[in-house]
Order: sequence, then structure tokens, then C-alpha cells
Amino acid sequence: MDKAFKERMRKSLIALKEQILKQLALENSEFHELIEDIKPKDLADIASDDIDRRILESLGSAEMRRLQLIEAALGRVRDGHYGVCMSCGKKIPRERLEAIPYAILCIDCKASEERRNR
Ligand SMILES: [Zn+2]
Repeated sequence: MDKAFKERMRKSLIALKEQILKQLALENSEFHELIEDIKPKDLADIASDDIDRRILESLGSAEMRRLQLIEAALGRVRDGHYGVCMSCGKKIPRERLEAIPYAILCIDCKASEERRNR
């Protein structure tokens, strides 16, 4: 996978993360206090681990799940595994990553995961 594409995906992951964190801050005053002092530049560096577990639990939303996926995807950019399916190790098609930058499973594995969870 070429560097420019990876860098672009990393930027959209960070943008998505900021968007979610800001949205969460609007909905939750405790969370708002937590991130109030953080400069936007640093916002992208917040790992979900830094966010109080209690707050995470009180949120318990689909957005929080997305945030964790984004975090996982950013971790995979860092360790060089971005764009590779976590389950079968095949490459995730570029179009899928463009649609969902935090996709960590290929379409086949995602579909079978969904079948399992049903
Ligand atoms: Zn797969």
C-alpha cells in the first residue's frame, strides 16, 4: 500500500476521531470537562485509554464503538498493518477503506462476523 494513501487515511481517521470527540463533548458534560483544556492539536493524540472508563461506560454508544475502531485503525497505521484484514490477513480493498477508513476486516470477514453476532 502506498505511503500517500496511508497518510490520507491516517488524516481522515484523525478527523473522524476529532469529530466524534467533539460530538461526545456536546452530549456529555463530564466528557466536556475532560477535553476542555485540550488543544485541538492534541485532541487527535488522545487514546481511548486516556478517557476515563467511567465516562466511556456512561456513554456506551455506537459512537464510542466507532472511536475504538478508529483507535485500532490508527494503531495499525503505526505498526504498518493498516489495510490488512485482522481476521484473514488479506488486503482490504482501497474502495472499502475510502468508504470506511476504520475498517479492520475485509468484507467477507465482516459479513461472517455479523452472521455470528446475529
Ligand atoms: Zn478477512
